[in-house]
Amino acid sequence: MVLNLIFLGPPGAGKGTVAQAVADKFSLAQVSTGDLIRAEVASGSELAKELQEIMSSGGLVGDELVAKMLEAKLKALSEEEGFSGIIFDGFPRTIPQANELENILTRLEQKLDAVINIESSEENIVKRLSSRWTCSKCKQIYNTVTNPPKVEGVCDIDGEALFQREDDKPDTIRARLAQYNEKTAPLIEFYKEKELLKSYDGNVPPAESIAAAEKLIESIKEGQ
Ligand SMILES: [Zn+2]
Repeated sequence: MVLNLIFLGPPGAGKGTVAQAVADKFSLAQVSTGDLIRAEVASGSELAKELQEIMSSGGLVGDELVAKMLEAKLKALSEEEGFSGIIFDGFPRTIPQANELENILTRLEQKLDAVINIESSEENIVKRLSSRWTCSKCKQIYNTVTNPPKVEGVCDIDGEALFQREDDKPDTIRARLAQYNEKTAPLIEFYKEKELLKSYDGNVPPAESIAAAEKLIESIKEGQ
């Protein structure tokens, strides 16, 4: 039985951890467009030269090229013995990409089984991501929730002051989150209309979030 899934979730919702755990448990291949591009460049193919030119000029690899690589990868994976499905990581990000993915899967006589959406409150994400503090001298990283320094605001190693990097500040996190929501909202609507969207509450510790995702996937498999 084949299971093709997309994972959606804001930065800090633990999407990477959950997707990895689910991929291991259900023997699914994880496909990310970043990995695809890197692998293609490393292969030295005709396309690799084109990709290298685009990236060295600071450009973004267009949807058409990504789709071409994705289709080749999915075809190869689906022909492997014991193929049991794919988790798409970081793709699609837009409606045109979602349509393209559907076309590719149809050509390969495959389909998307579900889009798993990890819901996480802004408050939780800000709390999770803004807990990171860095030593101003030795750059040691602390997490005020999971790995706090012995004395608040002071490095255990050299006694120097800890500071928050721009990326770890609540305001920066909130801005990134707003950007994510704006970009992903249409995608959530798109998959909701297709009755593929399965959301669960990700405002829980990582182990519980993984368990919730696994339970959800078990129920999808039962319904197949
Ligand atoms: Zn230090």
